Amino acid sequence: MISFEEAVSHILKIVTALGSESVSLDRALGRVIAQDVTAPRDLPPKDNSAMDGYAYRAGDLADGAPLKVVTLKVIGHIPAGHPGELEIGEGEAAKIMTGAPVPVGADTVVPVEDTKATDGMVTIVNPPKLGANIRLTGEDVKKDELVIPASALIRPAEIGMLASMGRSFVQVSCMPKIAILSTGDEIVEIDQIQSADGDKIVNSNSHGLAAQVTQAGGAPVMLGIGRDDPDSLLAMLENISGADMVLTTGGVSMGDYDYVGEVLERWGARIVFWKVAMKPGKPVLFAVKGRTLIFGLPGNPVSAMVAFEQFVRPAIRKLTGSNRLFRPVFQAVLGEEAGTVKAKETRTEFVRCRIECDSTGYRVTSVKRRGSGMLSTLVEANALLILPAGCVKVEPGEVVAVQVYDYEFLEGQTPGW
Ligand code: AMP
Ligand code: MG
Repeated sequence: MISFEEAVSHILKIVTALGSESVSLDRALGRVIAQDVTAPRDLPPKDNSAMDGYAYRAGDLADGAPLKVVTLKVIGHIPAGHPGELEIGEGEAAKIMTGAPVPVGADTVVPVEDTKATDGMVTIVNPPKLGANIRLTGEDVKKDELVIPASALIRPAEIGMLASMGRSFVQVSCMPKIAILSTGDEIVEIDQIQSADGDKIVNSNSHGLAAQVTQAGGAPVMLGIGRDDPDSLLAMLENISGADMVLTTGGVSMGDYDYVGEVLERWGARIVFWKVAMKPGKPVLFAVKGRTLIFGLPGNPVSAMVAFEQFVRPAIRKLTGSNRLFRPVFQAVLGEEAGTVKAKETRTEFVRCRIECDSTGYRVTSVKRRGSGMLSTLVEANALLILPAGCVKVEPGEVVAVQVYDYEFLEGQTPGW
């Protein structure tokens, strides 16, 4: 059996980024940009006013030292979007609106609230510094400057920047298509369950995993439920087309009806590893067939989700071209109520826990129940306390490493500053 670290490194060695596609700006949020974006022109393209006020030549007044009140002749108005051909001479000013180009000759804008206007004249009551309130050409972005590097996540700010550079389409990494196949004779779809069906289990894995895929930046494709029968499983795999990755759940343990490994081999996949020294998630399998990556996840819902977080999510992130593959790890103090958390030395353990933030820093408590079939424990948790192989226990008060998969606890119920 290989170690957790070996398993991760096997996966990352094999996975490479997909190609790229062009998408319209309104569909680009959350995607990974696949090209360096440089500015086609200066931003702003021309000097323009940062305030509603008056543009004038402060350089002519008392050597630019604006000590005294001055009165200037108003020779015109410059609304935003209407440049006009005004030229400002000594002793002159033009009324100017925010965003309007600064007229030739002017070097300063005084805000309207610092002036008094009378009969075609304006008095500057509170003169600003020479050059004040002018946004200079290129002060935001210079022509040919690298504005967004390849591999960056597209956030609202990148969308705004792309738009301001005149881009309505952007080249992003392709979204990986992830086929999801649950297996098990006891598994039925949500709408197939009857209240009398005590021996059936609803297929929660496909839905939970599809949500994880979406969150990771992939596009889930539901293949439904496969029976515990090698021939029918093989037929389902042979029907898959165009998937970058296949996720199966169930049928990878040592049970009499656990056929996934043998069926993958019959399909022509090469098994890279099967079984990892970890808990939960030990039976996980990783295989490749051509460019298709295959993860055989355990059937237990908690094991499937934890194995997804550790192995599948980084692989999907890498397929998307991102260089941020892993969830953040916080250092948190283990709370008293958690008691001693024990682990086996021979494996990496991921203990479901809840991390919170208070005035003293990050605190973590483990979720009491541990069963790997108990989905409610994942509903309760927001993070995984990591006990690497070699670590047998952690005590309350110790600082522990916590991998956070849900960051909502960082958002406040009040502004909080
Ligand atoms: P297996 O790995 O196939 O032995 O399954 C282990 C456990 O996970 C069994 O108790 C199954 O009932 C449960 N399980 C398997 N597949 C699913 C699924 N798609 N949704 C919910 N539970 C499942
Ligand atoms: Mg099964």
